[in-house]
Amino acid sequence: MRKKIVAGNWKMNLTYDEGQKLTSEIVNMYKDESIKDVIAVLNPPFPHLLPVKKLIGDTPGIFLGAQNCSDKESGAFTGEVSAKILASFGASYVILGHSERREYFKESNDLLTAKVKQALANGLTPIFCCGESLEIRMAGTHEANVKFQLTESLFDLSPEDFSKVVIAYEPIWAIGTGKTATADQAQEMHSALRRHIASKYGKDIANATSILYGGSANPGNAKELFSKPDVDGGLIGGASLKSRDFIEIIK
Ligand code: PGA
Repeated sequence: MRKKIVAGNWKMNLTYDEGQKLTSEIVNMYKDESIKDVIAVLNPPFPHLLPVKKLIGDTPGIFLGAQNCSDKESGAFTGEVSAKILASFGASYVILGHSERREYFKESNDLLTAKVKQALANGLTPIFCCGESLEIRMAGTHEANVKFQLTESLFDLSPEDFSKVVIAYEPIWAIGTGKTATADQAQEMHSALRRHIASKYGKDIANATSILYGGSANPGNAKELFSKPDVDGGLIGGASLKSRDFIEIIK
């Protein structure tokens, strides 16, 4: 059985008070509505990590994640945060390779390999993002493009390490645009990615890899998206900033 995961990506949003309020609401609703079998991951900006972790406490099923980590282990890298530091503050997950980091911070496939390895070496689960631009989708080369991102950044990992990675397919044209991929488009890509993983690591590992969908997922479309056999949950941006919406998506 694959893990079902819904991860909230707060991006660069929410003050301390807003983050505390959102987290308390999510934790309470998650408990009150006895959600089972779906892992929730909260990925706030770095300064929120410890206070958010304190509110999560040992609530079963809710985990803390970061939105990035350094490709380096430690040292004189002003402004960077290592995977080791994140783990020491209670993070269990880290989002890597988000299209915003690839585009605005010029993160390459090679750099992402180093980040993934740092995350794994420190016991963090990477949520590795991949996805194509609208231009590539229009040209019809989206499948090849996304497979290439996986090959370049991840296929250097041992089978044991790869089996610890979560994949998030996020078509760039759907992120923050209100334009979601259709459930069929998501399913098509997720099953292509699973076959691609199988070709390298075998069917067992491919079938055990959680592949999340991200891009304008909301309470109105989550049910259909998540009903597809190869869609194992979501990476949620905008809708993760509202407790009710985030919980509805999980449910
Ligand atoms: P969105 O963002 O849900 O606001 O489209 C998703 C993401 O970027 O992870």
